[in-house]
Amino acid sequence: MTQQNNQIVAIVGGAVAGSEAVYQFTERGVRCVAIEQNDLPYGKIEDGLPKWHAKQRKKEMAQIDTRIGHELVDFLPNTQIGKDLTVEELLTMGFSAVLMANGAWKDRTFPVKEIAKYEGDGFYYQNPFVYWYNHNEQPTYTGEQIVVEDNAVVVGGGLASIDVVKILQVELVSKVLKDRGIEISTIDLEHKGIPAALEEFNLTWDDLELEGAYLLYRRNVRNMPLASIPADATPEKDQKIRDTRAKILKKAQDKYFFRFKDQTQPIGIIEEEGSLVGLRMIENDLVNNKAISKEGTEYDLYSSMVISSIGSIPEPIEGIPMEWSTYDIKNEETGEVNGLDNVFGVGNAITGKGNIRVSRIHAREVAVYVADNRLPESGVDVDSVRTKVHSLQEKAGYKGDYPSWVQAKARE
Ligand SMILES: Cc1cc2nc3c(=O)[nH]c(=O)nc-3n(C[C@H](O)[C@H](O)[C@H](O)COP(=O)(O)OP(=O)(O)OC[C@H]3O[C@@H](n4cnc5c(N)ncnc54)[C@H](O)[C@@H]3O)c2cc1C
Repeated sequence: MTQQNNQIVAIVGGAVAGSEAVYQFTERGVRCVAIEQNDLPYGKIEDGLPKWHAKQRKKEMAQIDTRIGHELVDFLPNTQIGKDLTVEELLTMGFSAVLMANGAWKDRTFPVKEIAKYEGDGFYYQNPFVYWYNHNEQPTYTGEQIVVEDNAVVVGGGLASIDVVKILQVELVSKVLKDRGIEISTIDLEHKGIPAALEEFNLTWDDLELEGAYLLYRRNVRNMPLASIPADATPEKDQKIRDTRAKILKKAQDKYFFRFKDQTQPIGIIEEEGSLVGLRMIENDLVNNKAISKEGTEYDLYSSMVISSIGSIPEPIEGIPMEWSTYDIKNEETGEVNGLDNVFGVGNAITGKGNIRVSRIHAREVAVYVADNRLPESGVDVDSVRTKVHSLQEKAGYKGDYPSWVQAKARE
């Protein structure tokens, strides 16, 4: 039987997927090193899931802390694989296996390339935008400030794009109310919904004289990936889920008053005096659920800012083979990366689904598979690996006491 006390596994990324993998290994008596690029290992729980999900964020962070704080885990913060430590250096440290649990942090490139010059100045990608929303009021925040204006446009369609358009709406309404001497947080606005919150101040949406944000989707509402359709769904079930998608969108619109247009996509940008002032759009037909642009339907859509929320993919890391825009793996079940010895991908980096549960289950299945089948029978030199890890921890300013570290670094 494979020895467990002479194994040590590296896990890159300490969030939902990484901490689940850590848990599965430590439950089996296997040592882990959780390598995290940030000071704290919460990933999209802290930087993606909007801050109004306070209870869920707290619960997930507490679970991550329990797992990463386990006595069989060495935490290595502030260490980005591919930058602070190369893949080659990582793979030659002597680990029994390496699991890449590094999520999907690269926004898919916006289809209109010329917009790139306005990034941070009227054009924003979803990941930095949500990061700004979650962190900008914290005293430690040093990033750029984004000013939300009326009539912003979100190009997207998934659940995260609904959160983005909600952020725009609650930020906008909170700002407009503040100008009228009314203080209400964006979190309260999200919980109550805009009409109910306004009613408390004897106001209506019309009183605010706002256009509101605009969500644009290239296919139609019934194709929006707001609820997933199982591969074996009957035609009736398929229709029911598509109805549910339309209902989810309608409910969000009723509660947050954003506008929505489907079957349309950007084909250009509109610039005036060196500023981005809108998007050149075209309407789409749907042919076999595919969006096909209709010639002659081009139109101009003026807007104050543009946010791209068209999905995230894993960051390319030198030394990790890619296939198109994702890591090159043998199959999703094992997450095994082609061309590398005992390297596996887990969670959002592999599933492509922005979903906590899906990340967790995938990490669990791969970690159990690796623990049961792929650890080298003769074991590895755990002490030698840990000596190298300790010197990296020193470089990262980490002294080895996880609870004290978390307490010192906690932002919320
Ligand atoms: C706006 C928004 C709303 C969402 N809402 C929901 C929701 O309601 N329900 C739901 O289930 N899901 C939701 N999600 C998705 C969910 O948050 C994520 O899918 C999930 O948390 C991903 O977990 P993960 O561990 O796979 O990846 P991540 O959380 O991305 O973790 C990856 C970790 O790896 C680290 N890392 C990355 N690269 C490196 C590197 N090179 N070296 C070292 N460390 C690295 C990162 O810092 C991070 O800690 C939402 C996401 C967004 C953006």
